[in-house]
Amino acid sequence: MLSTMQTTPLTVSSILRHVVQNHSDREVLTATGDGVRRVSYRELGERCGKLANALRRLGVADDDRVATFQWNNQEHLEAYAAIPSMGAVLHTLNIRLSPEQIRFIATHAEDRAVIVDSSLIPLLAKVLPSLDTVRFVLVTGEGDITSLEGCGKDVLRYEDVLAGESSEFPWLDGDENAAAAMCYTSGTTGDPKGVVYSHRSMYLHSMAACSGNAFGIAEPDRVLPVVPMFHANAWGLPYAALMAGADLLLPDRFLQAEPLADIIQAQRPTLAGAVPTIWNDLLHYVDRNPDIDLSSLRLVACGGSAVPRALMESFERRFGVTIVQAWGMTETSPLGAIATPPAAAEGEDRMRYRATQGRPVCGVELRLVDDDDRVLPRDGKAVGELEVRGPWVTGSYYRVEAEDRFHDGWLRTGDVGNISPDGFLTLTDRAKDVIKSGGEWISSVELENLLMGHPDVVEAAVIAVSDPKWQERPLAAVVLRDGTETTADQLRSWLADKVPKWWLPERWAFVDQVPRTSVGKFDKKALRRIHSDGRLAVNEVYE
Ligand code: ADP
Repeated sequence: MLSTMQTTPLTVSSILRHVVQNHSDREVLTATGDGVRRVSYRELGERCGKLANALRRLGVADDDRVATFQWNNQEHLEAYAAIPSMGAVLHTLNIRLSPEQIRFIATHAEDRAVIVDSSLIPLLAKVLPSLDTVRFVLVTGEGDITSLEGCGKDVLRYEDVLAGESSEFPWLDGDENAAAAMCYTSGTTGDPKGVVYSHRSMYLHSMAACSGNAFGIAEPDRVLPVVPMFHANAWGLPYAALMAGADLLLPDRFLQAEPLADIIQAQRPTLAGAVPTIWNDLLHYVDRNPDIDLSSLRLVACGGSAVPRALMESFERRFGVTIVQAWGMTETSPLGAIATPPAAAEGEDRMRYRATQGRPVCGVELRLVDDDDRVLPRDGKAVGELEVRGPWVTGSYYRVEAEDRFHDGWLRTGDVGNISPDGFLTLTDRAKDVIKSGGEWISSVELENLLMGHPDVVEAAVIAVSDPKWQERPLAAVVLRDGTETTADQLRSWLADKVPKWWLPERWAFVDQVPRTSVGKFDKKALRRIHSDGRLAVNEVYE
């Protein structure tokens, strides 16, 4: 029997229409370096109409990819809302990739146009002439555009182009399964691969992000996505905020701890999202500037790599701010699991749950498989590769054969861990980062978390290095707080009562900074390379 329900498509355009009609006075604020510029959702809706008309006039047809090369700002949000809503496909390019990677990705996606911030023109100019599919470039911001002259593309100022357009546009009302946006994995563990989100997946993902078991985003919120809008759609926070009618506070290029602290203090966001390295930097900045007030934040979403327990405890103790760990991937839109403790958990038990990667949000299913693809029990002990499925999880990659990444309709994540009987996922490693010492696994994630709990340690990354006796052993690269001289021996003693003795690293490198990926995670691939090139000064400590 069929239902009697209407089958209204779940689209980005319906989110845009909703926020403009029902929350028109809520605002988008963009950091300018010495304050913010503001636009209401009513004005944003009008500007989106103008942008869509302009893109159509310039030849953008349904399904054409329009790339952004942008900071987190109002114009990027306009592209987020207008491009999918007109029936084209938003493609967020990662501004921190190398010119070769950008060329590869933009060409593979066959981007037809690029919307670039003028401050990023020097980066784009290096590749633009070789982007054969790109016909025109829209430049936001006031900066100089002369370096784009002679690149063989039409280069137009965004505001000039919008000025002549009507703010009315017949937004798409079509197929919810059509492509709305695409994003390439950042390539931490291989070549970038394209993931194409549908209107439906983005709609459902936004509802999940707004739900009470996730971030509970609602109209009174002011949401600060520090995580770049080119990284898995800023974890879907912008679309979730539009759906909820919440204010958005966008940091533009002011991502260092000092301007971030200033903007939080002045504009009082209630919810923010970023990878752990950003919150770690902020914590150390506020240590030196104790008058900074971060108390407006009711929740800080943190993920992308394991969130050190010490970081969560410091935020709680120092500012009364709750950091919630979430797990996800570009392939999962990205929200997969959230570490909110069960109602019954108390005291230390709550923290134990919060230090996991979390429980899946309804819609996402998780399971573990062993090396022979047998499904493992959810007993909190069996360790295997994590597989995931759900309506906002990708079922393939864009124009790439990657059968080996899928298994019976589940996505193989490349993450390794266990799942407890009550559904909490604990990751011990990425498959490519595991350390197998004498046939037994050592969790680099756990060693890093424990090291970053030491009062003198600012950053720690642990990699596998080959060892004649044990095949592999852990090497710890550590950044110490300025002015401290903690030794490898002392760090080994710190770990000694927390992990099995055979986990204790013998090899230690004290470095100025752990290399970071284009999305701000510790870059273990780069660390391994520096080590194998002999560029890492390693102390060896055996008992
Ligand atoms: P990349 O693969 O280039 O890093 P993604 O941003 O899609 O790009 O990264 C997804 C991966 O990030 C996951 O597969 C997982 O390894 C890691 N990750 C995400 N959230 C967490 C978390 N809370 N704890 C540990 N690892 C995480």
